[in-house]
Amino acid sequence: MIMNDEPVMTKFKVMIDKNKCIGARSCVNLAGLTFRMGSDGKAELIDQDGNSDEEKILAAQACPNMAIKVINTATGETVWPETRLEVKI
Ligand code: SF4
Repeated sequence: MIMNDEPVMTKFKVMIDKNKCIGARSCVNLAGLTFRMGSDGKAELIDQDGNSDEEKILAAQACPNMAIKVINTATGETVWPETRLEVKI
C-alpha cells in the first residue's frame, strides 16, 4: 500500500538572500509550502521540507534576481545557481 501522507524529506536546502530579494513572489507561487512573503515584502522560509526538491529548485530558478541558493545537503554542492564555468573554444 502506498502512503501519501508521509512527510517529504528533501535533500536540497534553500537559502534566501534578502538583500537580493525584490519581492517578485515567483518562489511563493511555485513552492508555497517552503516560502512565504514576509511583512518586509521579501521572501522568507517556512519549512525546508515543505515542497519537493524539484519544486524548490524550480522556485529558485524562477527567481528573477537569483536571490535563492540551493545546496545539496548530501554532497555539500551548490545546485543553484550553477557555478560550473563553460569554456568555449
Ligand atoms: S522569487 Fe526571488 S525576488 Fe521574488 S520573492 Fe522569491 S526570493 Fe524574492
